[in-house]
Amino acid sequence: MKSLKRTLYATICSTAILITSCNKTNQNKTTASNDNPFEAKVDSILKLMTLEEKLGQLNLPGAGDIVTGQAQSSDVAKKIEEGKVGGLFNIKTVEKIREVQQIAVEKSRLKIPLIFGMDVIHGYETTFPIPLGLSASWDMEMIKKTAQVAAKEATASGINWTFSPMVDISRDARWGRVSEGSGEDAYLGSEIAKAMVTGYQGDDLTANYTMMSCVKHFALYGAPDAGRDYGTVDMSKQRMYNEYLPPYKAAVDAGVGSVMASFNEVDGIPATGNKWLLTDLLRDDWGFNGFVVTDYTGINEMIDHGVGDLQQVSAMALKAGIDMDMVGEGLLTTLKKSLDEGIISMDDIDKAVKRILTAKYQLGLFDDPYKYCDINRPRTDVFTAEHRAFARQVAAESMVLLKNDNQILPLKKSGTIALVGPLANSAVNMAGTWSVATVQKASNPLLDGLKTVVGDAANVLYAKGSNLDYDLEFEKNATMFGKEIPRDGRSDKQLLDEALSIASKSDVIIAALGESAEMSGESSSRTNLEIPQVQKDLLNALLKTGKPVVLVLFTGRPLVLVEEHQNVPAILNVWFPGSEAGLAISDVLFGNVNPSGKLTATWPRNVGQIPIFYNHKNTGRPLANKEGKFEKFRSNYLDVRNEPLYPFGYGLSYTTFDYKNVKVNKAKVAMNEAFEVSVEVTNSGNYDGKEVVQLYIRDVVGSVTRPVRELKGFQKVALKKGETKTVTFRLTVEDLKFYNYDLDFVAEPGQFEVFVGTDSDAGLKTEFELK
Ligand code: BGC
Repeated sequence: MKSLKRTLYATICSTAILITSCNKTNQNKTTASNDNPFEAKVDSILKLMTLEEKLGQLNLPGAGDIVTGQAQSSDVAKKIEEGKVGGLFNIKTVEKIREVQQIAVEKSRLKIPLIFGMDVIHGYETTFPIPLGLSASWDMEMIKKTAQVAAKEATASGINWTFSPMVDISRDARWGRVSEGSGEDAYLGSEIAKAMVTGYQGDDLTANYTMMSCVKHFALYGAPDAGRDYGTVDMSKQRMYNEYLPPYKAAVDAGVGSVMASFNEVDGIPATGNKWLLTDLLRDDWGFNGFVVTDYTGINEMIDHGVGDLQQVSAMALKAGIDMDMVGEGLLTTLKKSLDEGIISMDDIDKAVKRILTAKYQLGLFDDPYKYCDINRPRTDVFTAEHRAFARQVAAESMVLLKNDNQILPLKKSGTIALVGPLANSAVNMAGTWSVATVQKASNPLLDGLKTVVGDAANVLYAKGSNLDYDLEFEKNATMFGKEIPRDGRSDKQLLDEALSIASKSDVIIAALGESAEMSGESSSRTNLEIPQVQKDLLNALLKTGKPVVLVLFTGRPLVLVEEHQNVPAILNVWFPGSEAGLAISDVLFGNVNPSGKLTATWPRNVGQIPIFYNHKNTGRPLANKEGKFEKFRSNYLDVRNEPLYPFGYGLSYTTFDYKNVKVNKAKVAMNEAFEVSVEVTNSGNYDGKEVVQLYIRDVVGSVTRPVRELKGFQKVALKKGETKTVTFRLTVEDLKFYNYDLDFVAEPGQFEVFVGTDSDAGLKTEFELK
């Protein structure tokens, strides 16, 4: 037996080394063609595998009770030894990962290495702003670099597979997971998907600093009925193809190694068991060649969806195109029976096993199962001063200035500053949701950052001012996973009085208010999108003092901010800025950094307007008046105007930008021609700054109805005060294409309008004709 084992392992390894060394160049491009450079090797392993070992490769249990130094006695150890585990996820520390890998490659019969996944969503230990915040930077190079830094830190810690990017388009701020995505727009979302995937995976997936990316949640997870997480999605194919699917496809086109199926149903069939989605569309139409993992217990949840018992849904998932089963063990425990009964074939199982083994080859794990387990790397590569300095810069770039009357901001570093609010001194809330590897207490809270940035130049006074919410029960639900904002033993009045007392001694008040980190994220849907009432009461009391108030708003989603917009002179939206939160916020408040973030999701006036998004269609009864006044028998509301409070693309700067002379270089564009749109942008204010110049088009007449405008280009440009630049966009017919009624991707001849400006309301217009 021993010698058989040795021979098997020698065969696996020798071929592995051979294949790894001759295929460095094309390993990352999993979708380029159906050629699998590892096919021969994978087949030779497959031949050695028992059915149980094959099913083991499809199994992705949670890490469970692994404790450093005692992995051998953990619950999963026995399963790994028996060859019943293909990978593990969300284990932290290289020591633990090394220990379990050792069990796989020393104790299991075939010694197949495990793959180690994790939710490395917006950084590893060095944490960047939540993805919605990151998207507000509109800086693709910077976003890509955040993924590279995350990959460097994660791979230094044993992780070689990240469950990111999440590219679910969402137009519903009630859904808590808007925080994890890039907002409402498919074009921007696709650019970000590409930046993230190429950032994580690099040019060579076997390199020590790159990891496999897993795009999620496929598909349409961001459109649940009523914004309730895990809810039913029902959508036309038109909307799917044009407005929701493009970012997933962009990730596939960028060579993403894996895809995670979503919890929701698509067209009446749960995504996890949806063959049209996971095979016909993903593999046959898009050419995806990697592997598909379920979401957490996604297969088992199909029982509650009402499509069968565990055996049925497991077979359904496998046949639909699922290769790996996260946590639920449906594939592990039922497929033998389904095989015996002829419901599935060995070929169905082999296909999935091959894809998992191929991924392990792509990562170089057969070559060296410990290649991501260098115990010296965490010290040099994780949470370094360099990464933290970058995180500070990224956080500042993501912040959005929503209002700045009378140029209250930037503040002067002088006098006395009152810092008030339940989020002013909460290190553990700064990283935001889905920050598994973050050391929460190591984040920099606003109070610390403020003191550091103003130094001795100003006096900072602090008071908490209020709890997170009046309701203790709500507060508990909204501060899980160690992200408490400890409830203050004092009464609401005592807290308020203390805040008013320091406010009376100050020249300016900074109110740090909004959501806690866990008020958005998974299973954190809300129906009320206002700042919690206790904080609104605090804010109103502070405003009554007559002192200038700056609202520093923490949030994981678009909020309803009508009252604040009316009453507070300056509002800086900081999302959850990550590890260096306090420093980055202070950089912006005091003008070390001029804010340049722009919203990537529309902010409604009230929840009743939801879903609200800029690229909607026209109705047959659009409003005739520009002021948004009510018109009977037109498409509008009695009680609120149609437009949002802040449109997509909106964000102010300490300076001002003027746009003029928008031009298309050709009045008539032929189908095969490229064309250019240019515009002159001038920094007309008093500060150097950056502007995200945005280009939208409208296809005036279509064979199907077309959106009122669609983003088709953007450039973030730096302009010194007084400087003018001509910004030029190069477009081709590809940018004018859409999926028509037959779902063909076409551009239709006719008139196009082009709008260029500072946000999606841009009024500067030109046009051209596509011949
Ligand atoms: C989430 C995924 C995540 C997975 C693993 C699920 O609950 O929906 O986004 O990757 O857990 O942690």
